[in-house]
Amino acid sequence: MAGITGKSSINRRDFLRRGAAAAAAAATLGVGFGTARAEEALTVNGLPAVMFGDTGLKVTKISFGGILTTEPPVLLRAIDQGINFVHTSPGYQNGRSIEAFGKVMKTHRSKVVLALKTRPDDLDRWLKALNTDYVDMLVPPMHSMEAISDPTIPEAFEKAKAAGKVGQMGFACHKDMTNILNKASELGYYNVSLMSYSDADNPEFLAAAKKAVSGGMGIMTMKGLPKRGAEGNTPEERADITSRCASMVGPEHAHTVLASMGSFQSVDFYREMLETKIGHFDSDLERQYWAAQEGNYCAMCGNCKEICPNGVEIRRIVRYRMYNDDYGMTDYARTKYSQLGSSCNGAACEECGLCESICKRNLPVVEMLREAHAALA
Ligand code: SF4
Ligand code: SF4
Repeated sequence: MAGITGKSSINRRDFLRRGAAAAAAAATLGVGFGTARAEEALTVNGLPAVMFGDTGLKVTKISFGGILTTEPPVLLRAIDQGINFVHTSPGYQNGRSIEAFGKVMKTHRSKVVLALKTRPDDLDRWLKALNTDYVDMLVPPMHSMEAISDPTIPEAFEKAKAAGKVGQMGFACHKDMTNILNKASELGYYNVSLMSYSDADNPEFLAAAKKAVSGGMGIMTMKGLPKRGAEGNTPEERADITSRCASMVGPEHAHTVLASMGSFQSVDFYREMLETKIGHFDSDLERQYWAAQEGNYCAMCGNCKEICPNGVEIRRIVRYRMYNDDYGMTDYARTKYSQLGSSCNGAACEECGLCESICKRNLPVVEMLREAHAALA
């Protein structure tokens, strides 16, 4: 079987080198690759900003993702440097992220647009932890058509809104994104979303995103970066991430990239990117980026959902492997993996090959499951 990166159709090093050259050329010339959006002229704290759908909120084009955050000074630095859109969830870093946010919100609440991923019926508990009495937007996880259509969510949201505890109603999604986004547009009552951009080379997904945006939905992206949550160690890696961020907030889809920041270095990296390069993207580089993902990056497309005759939770395991390998969140990944149980974790795979045969990205799924089990069981 081919290695995890063995199926890439282009050489990743060449791709990265080209990305560095393209980003450097743009910076040198001071011009963009693509068509500038009308919003390009908007700023917040001197940084490129955008109106977040029809919410009336103006947010920086890169926002602060708290999944790697454990230390309040990291968030403080981002706010002090002008990033005004921040997001956390109770599950991140086993509660340490929301704890850090709570310490910072005591003094800096008025400086940020605050988004929280949790269910409306859990809101009171986490408002207390955040040291605030409201969040600007709530994005409960919605990973199925049943969840997005659940009428109790908008009912609970309306109650929380009437009580002044939340501003905008939204959802977070990293499974079956195209169908769920289309359903949200059809339902009409979700006006913000935290959306996985792992499948953003899929024209159907992009059409769904475009439709949602034209309907007034504000979209922040997650899981759309080559080294999710890392800021890159080499100039090539940094150029690669810069190009992806610029592509995601290009003219046709999302408003802001939710970038995971767990260190001063990452804050400074994204702040600099916002200041100098976020308005530029390269469609050729974008195409090459997606070609490079062939064989090594799960699109979370949902094709393998319920396909396994043994009931193996393929997408979850691949995601927990990503948390471990790409985010360095080994404890979190192990906790999530242990919750699967032996009947549907990697040990239940009998290597029939069915999931690999339908995998959108031609991933070596069996090998990935084996690796995940060895690292996380
Ligand atoms: S290869 Fe393993 S995980 Fe994939 S369908 Fe077969 S038994 Fe299930
Ligand atoms: S089919 Fe492949 S790319 Fe799609 S969710 Fe499953 S493992 Fe990921």
